[in-house]
Amino acid sequence: MRKKQINSRLLHYSGISRLVRSIRSNYFREIPVLNYHRILEITDVDKFPFDQSLIDATESEFRWQMNFIRDNYQPITFKYFADYLEGSNELPDNPIIVTFDDGYDDNYYNAFPVLKELGIPATIFLTAGYIGKNMPFWYDWLSYLVQSNKSELFEIGAINFKSNPNDPLQNKNTIYRDCVKKMKSVSNETRLSALEEIEQRYAHGYSSEDESIKNLSKPLNWAQCKEMHEHGIEFGSHSVTHPILSSLDDVQLRYELEESKNIIERNIDQSIKALAYPNGQVSDFNEHVANMAKQCGYKICVSLIKGTNPLSKLLPYELRRLHIEPSHDKYVYSSSLAFPYL
Ligand SMILES: [Zn+2]
Repeated sequence: MRKKQINSRLLHYSGISRLVRSIRSNYFREIPVLNYHRILEITDVDKFPFDQSLIDATESEFRWQMNFIRDNYQPITFKYFADYLEGSNELPDNPIIVTFDDGYDDNYYNAFPVLKELGIPATIFLTAGYIGKNMPFWYDWLSYLVQSNKSELFEIGAINFKSNPNDPLQNKNTIYRDCVKKMKSVSNETRLSALEEIEQRYAHGYSSEDESIKNLSKPLNWAQCKEMHEHGIEFGSHSVTHPILSSLDDVQLRYELEESKNIIERNIDQSIKALAYPNGQVSDFNEHVANMAKQCGYKICVSLIKGTNPLSKLLPYELRRLHIEPSHDKYVYSSSLAFPYL
């Protein structure tokens, strides 16, 4: 058993986790925001060609996690939180917000039934340009093309990327990781040229033996979103195309923020209050991006910087979140809410 798992058991059985969680909620008045991407069980990791790091829990893990949330917190939406920030309502004791990024259809198949049953109003941040289109998010498509590439070399001239077949430490997963990291570090024009290049060089659609595989990476469609919305699920924006917002010029930035909000509002009868910055790390957004989000009508923006949010010094345009990882057993899950910075 790893050290983290042993420590989290000690914290649980000694009652320290529960005590610290209560102090955080009631004394420091903090609001935690949980972050998930995908809820999915994969039986054969080697045969899963998409980004595996986005799978945060299986359906059964998600069920006990949400039971824990229901027993220990009072989940709210960003609309409720925005109303609180404007002074028109009070927060419940132990508030929490449960979020999902991107808008994978497993949110509908695997997370929504649990959320509906337990009455938890989660928020799904949609990459609006992909919703209802039968194509994987660009990073998943890149992952698939790397995994299904038959030749020894994987190369993208636009970003100066070349795999090294002589490196014994390089495998298809590391090639994808290096490649996606590079794609996130270049300008938006370069990223778009790189995507065009790999489309011409490597993409020939799904091969016939991969027909069933394509169902493993699908964005939600609008009918699914509408049904979830009717049962208390809230939606937020995660841009139109999932670029790094800090790398965009003003025209592109406004388009990503404004158009995504418009697309979602056109399709779902809900005013969009919240934005999740794509990738969400320190270098992926800045004050200029936050100001533009404010101008476009967002009341709250969330990052993926690890942490929780004390109400006394709240930064509504850079809320922190706690990313749930698949290695989180029950004890690690509850202690990570008590000690989010560990
Ligand atoms: Zn994302």
